[in-house]
Amino acid sequence: MEIYKDFTFEAAHLLPNVPQGHKCGRLHGHSFLIRLYIAGDIDPHTGWLMDFSDIKQIFKPIYEQLDHNYLNDIPGLENPTSENLAIWIWQQLKPILSALSQVEVRETCTSGCIYRGE
Ligand SMILES: [Zn+2]
Repeated sequence: MEIYKDFTFEAAHLLPNVPQGHKCGRLHGHSFLIRLYIAGDIDPHTGWLMDFSDIKQIFKPIYEQLDHNYLNDIPGLENPTSENLAIWIWQQLKPILSALSQVEVRETCTSGCIYRGE
């Protein structure tokens, strides 16, 4: 079984390594969507894999580093592409949420990426 929980946050960034004149090299913001996937077996008694509110609680300190912040200032996110953001979230979260199976990051309604730890 795999469950997921969505989070949205607002943040600013620029991409330092894009070609000169590329629009992503200018300071701008996104309403990011983060979808965290958790995989495992359903508890026969509770009938669920994990309490959704536990996911929220565990993710909270990481979420607070991102929301309404300038992503480039966060250590490890100097080049805050969606791909690097997904990897960064995975690296923060996997040690404290071992059932994490996938991190999805969307920076617009039509653009995003998925990281599965490799
Ligand atoms: Zn952007």
